[in-house]
Amino acid sequence: MSNQSNETAQVIVVGAGPVGLWVAAELALAGVSTLVLERAVERSPHSKAMGMHPRTVEVLALRGAEKRFLADGFPRPNWHFGMLENRLDFSGLDTPYPFMLAFPQTRTEELFEQRALDLGVRIHRGHAVTGLAQDASAVTLTLDDSRTLTASYVVGADGAGSTVRKAAGIAFPGSDATTFGYVGEVSLTEQPVLSAQTDDGALITVPLGGGRYRLAGMDAHRQGPDDPFTLEDLRATTRLVAGSDFGMHDPTWLSRFGNTTRVAAEYRRGRVLLAGDAAHMHFPAGGVGLNVGVQDAMNLGWKLAAEVHGRAAPGLLDSYHAERHPVGLALAQHTLAQTALISATTPEQRALRTLVNDLIGTVPAFATALADKLAALDVAYPAADAHPLVGRRMPLLALLAGRPLLLARTTLPEAFALAAELGFETAVDPDLPDARAAVVRPDGHVWWATDDTSEVPAGLTGLGTTFAD
Ligand SMILES: Cc1cc2nc3c(=O)[nH]c(=O)nc-3n(C[C@H](O)[C@H](O)[C@H](O)COP(=O)(O)OP(=O)(O)OC[C@H]3O[C@@H](n4cnc5c(N)ncnc54)[C@H](O)[C@@H]3O)c2cc1C
Repeated sequence: MSNQSNETAQVIVVGAGPVGLWVAAELALAGVSTLVLERAVERSPHSKAMGMHPRTVEVLALRGAEKRFLADGFPRPNWHFGMLENRLDFSGLDTPYPFMLAFPQTRTEELFEQRALDLGVRIHRGHAVTGLAQDASAVTLTLDDSRTLTASYVVGADGAGSTVRKAAGIAFPGSDATTFGYVGEVSLTEQPVLSAQTDDGALITVPLGGGRYRLAGMDAHRQGPDDPFTLEDLRATTRLVAGSDFGMHDPTWLSRFGNTTRVAAEYRRGRVLLAGDAAHMHFPAGGVGLNVGVQDAMNLGWKLAAEVHGRAAPGLLDSYHAERHPVGLALAQHTLAQTALISATTPEQRALRTLVNDLIGTVPAFATALADKLAALDVAYPAADAHPLVGRRMPLLALLAGRPLLLARTTLPEAFALAAELGFETAVDPDLPDARAAVVRPDGHVWWATDDTSEVPAGLTGLGTTFAD
């Protein structure tokens, strides 16, 4: 029998993975009462993701949350695409953080959780959501102990198998797994190769410190969905592909995964929103899933907060799907392409792999375009008939309070006063590029811009969303 809980929250986030924790923190920063429900009693000790890409570090920096990551992480100047031998050089990318920051997911979750708690988020572990119903005014969740909880909105950040997505009736179109990869964390007595590929499979290695390494790859001889994966299997494939097992011993994690690739058809259905792996599932090629998920969360948080407070322009919350669904589709495409390169075994596939590898090595613009894709520096939200600056990211800002910012080359007393009334921050930037004034959204993308400062007051009110308490 179900019983209604007294616990209330304006938004319930389902899932305390990195994406749920970041979106919860964003909501709380904007003054939304937020509850996170997490099925697991304790966080997994295994770090699936090992890295932060440049746009994610920019996103953290927007909130002043990047310092611990930069202090404890290891910046790597290059990264791989499809496990190809020629690496992508991140050092010349147009970002304050031109590197892949090696940083374990467990630690990311710890830091995100602390931030969420500090901002007043309540996190309840050991509670699985089993069902969901929504009407025009609220969403009701059913928990595994039969309690029900009601909120104005629910964010499903409950991973690839998302109960929220299924219960909301949101389709998850895509393709089933055709290739299976593996990951193993072991101690090695010898320095391993960085990467290797033969007809027997592919391998990359990532140092974890203290003689421990992550080995990830594809074993061409074990492509059954339910094939076992033991230390001896890892040893055998490593010997075949790289010529040695590098003295591997003491595994702490051995796992396999497929390249099932799906993107939710709707990132929003009524009062239910999806973010992270709940919205996109793919092969973990290029190390981007967590990164794209955090960027989803950043796009969603301020919009949902404005909607909950009744201060959002019509259509603002729908723009979450409009802006992030294409990014999910692009993610699906480039991880599928990488899977093809990783699992290349036919002469045709090997020829494609050689071609792409050569292009990366010899055509800098090609390599930079791929690096921008992994780094998410190619993501912009341009609008038809808008100033060309609109939608571009502004990486050098700190928007610590999560409010939008009116930037102008000179002080604009009337416009700055109006901006303050609307709850926007203001600043003068004599070097503002490509426009005389611009409004930057809380997620660091340009919302509106002009070359004629007399238009600023009308531009501000035209956005139709306010942030004043
Ligand atoms: C081997 C491997 C390597 C990877 N490497 C990288 C990398 O280097 N870089 C990168 O960016 N990404 C990487 N990824 C992907 C990355 O780990 C995921 O994209 C990331 O974990 C997604 O975060 P999330 O918060 O959306 O979902 P999850 O991390 O899956 O979190 C979802 C949470 O929801 C909880 N939950 C599920 N169902 C319920 C329910 N019904 N009720 C309540 N709670 C529920 C779960 O317990 C979980 O804590 C890798 C993945 C794998 C498998």
